[in-house]
Amino acid sequence: MDNKEVIMKNFIERIIDKDLEQGKYTKIATRFPPEPNGYLHIGHAKSILLNYGLAQKYNGTFNLRFDDTNPTKEKTEFVDSIVADVEWLGAHYDGEIRFASHYFHDMYEAAVKLIKKGKAYVCDLTPEQIREYRGTLTEPGKNSPYRDRSIKENLDLFERMKNGEFEDGAKVLRAKIDMSSPNINMRDPIIYRVARMTHHNTGDEWCIYPMYDFAHPIEDAIENITHSICTLEFEDHRPLYDWVVQELEYVHPPKQIEFAKLYLTNVITGKRYIKRLVDQGIVDGWDDPRLVTIAALRRRGFTPESLKTFMELVGVAKSNSSVDYAMLEYCIRDDLKPKAPRVMAVLDPIKLVIDNYPEDKVEYLDAQVNMENPELGVKQVPFARELWIDRDDFMEEPPKKYFRLFPGNEVRLMNAYFVKCVSYEKDETGKVTVVHCTYDPETKNGTGFTGRKVKGTIHWVPVKFAVKVTARLYENLVDEEKGVYNEDGTVNLNPNSLTIVEDCYIEPAIKEAKPGDSFQFVRNGYFCVDTKDSTEEHLVFNRIVSLKSSFKLPKK
Ligand code: ATP
Ligand code: MG
Repeated sequence: MDNKEVIMKNFIERIIDKDLEQGKYTKIATRFPPEPNGYLHIGHAKSILLNYGLAQKYNGTFNLRFDDTNPTKEKTEFVDSIVADVEWLGAHYDGEIRFASHYFHDMYEAAVKLIKKGKAYVCDLTPEQIREYRGTLTEPGKNSPYRDRSIKENLDLFERMKNGEFEDGAKVLRAKIDMSSPNINMRDPIIYRVARMTHHNTGDEWCIYPMYDFAHPIEDAIENITHSICTLEFEDHRPLYDWVVQELEYVHPPKQIEFAKLYLTNVITGKRYIKRLVDQGIVDGWDDPRLVTIAALRRRGFTPESLKTFMELVGVAKSNSSVDYAMLEYCIRDDLKPKAPRVMAVLDPIKLVIDNYPEDKVEYLDAQVNMENPELGVKQVPFARELWIDRDDFMEEPPKKYFRLFPGNEVRLMNAYFVKCVSYEKDETGKVTVVHCTYDPETKNGTGFTGRKVKGTIHWVPVKFAVKVTARLYENLVDEEKGVYNEDGTVNLNPNSLTIVEDCYIEPAIKEAKPGDSFQFVRNGYFCVDTKDSTEEHLVFNRIVSLKSSFKLPKK
């Protein structure tokens, strides 16, 4: 291994290298452990791609496991959406989908084992008393009066907790660690509680449920996970994780490693905020293309490849920071540039009439499907006397350096002829309705014309062959000036986050488009056929990203 390679590795890879070198593990195993209480967002995509990427790199395995130990907020709808997202990202999980709830019996046995070792006890303090006894950051806690119950009594009480003999909250099982530990998580944390809740997998089988900090290391150990990667907020919980796997005497205990969460500037990732926008009908569901849930990114037209590139650029860090959304846009542009077919589309149409072009004539002109990728081949574009062009491409009184159409000026019609503006018509409100031009038959694209040059090239769509579609243009959902969240839990919305363009005309090649397909609308941006609202009769496009950007890749 040369030096360069070592430098390129992130801190997690360096830990893994060392573990493998020291023979701690022979093969690595990672997992993604979502709680099925909402849709996944771009931050979760980071965790998925990181865990899956490590498994791939080290020829190990990657598990998908639902951390469904807290039945209140969990739903099967979320399980299904999460599986779809993980699969779409291309993260192949090993074997079956796993559920923490499948290990409830093992967790119960593990608790019994701790009791038998004198390492856990049933406590009758009320929640308020437990809080009071816990102490503070500056003061040590106090031992519970129930701490010294005999093993026999604890075993009996714990079994009766399981059998439903006690009210919800009346008793808890606690780990017996150290009430004076500087780490509050180690002050005899609760590991089981009585709670009558119907679970989406196990129904009413259980009336006691394990706490996350106890359950998670057991789940990892049962699945022989080697590196349990989580986000920074769990750093203080690591001593408890280590305590659990040690006291339960697993032969190959898993190891927890924390990394910084991915934050994007000016986007909403908090589940409860998104849920509120969904519930209030402000957005069109969890997959509204303005959101950054994985489902929304997919619907907007982002690709798994673009997200992978993005995550690689962002890297894996030990401290929190925020990444510019423009970097994500950079990645999708870069991915689609050679892949997406290009079509001429007019979003704000104005008619152009070529006065000297025969009325009924139609010509088929050759055009490359994608100028930057000849492999995509050549198509034929019909050309006729009446065309749609973009309103922006004509001005009655142009400013300096405006090279597109204005009276007396000549431009190139993309893939076609040179045309010169001879006159224009206006309606009673003064709005330009028709631009008249003449064309020069000598200037046909690709026929070897070597005469005069023109500075502007504009795109066009023949009126007779135009396909009318709906295009949705997006801006940030959030008002960037004001910041994302308010103190009262509301978000600052941008009133212009969605513009619906109903009169969008596209060249006939677009008829082939299927839901989920992406195209470049030349000179405008990348668009994706919406998977929900588009039909065969009427296509609906979402703008993924515009073509222009001031974003530059940060220097590494
Ligand atoms: P909450 O706990 O608020 O419900 P969560 O985002 O932590 O939400 P989980 O389902 O527990 O949701 O997360 C699954 C995994 O994804 C965890 O390992 C978590 O650390 C990781 N994860 C969550 N958010 C991010 C993020 N922004 N960046 C990277 N990883 C994340
Ligand atoms: Mg969580």
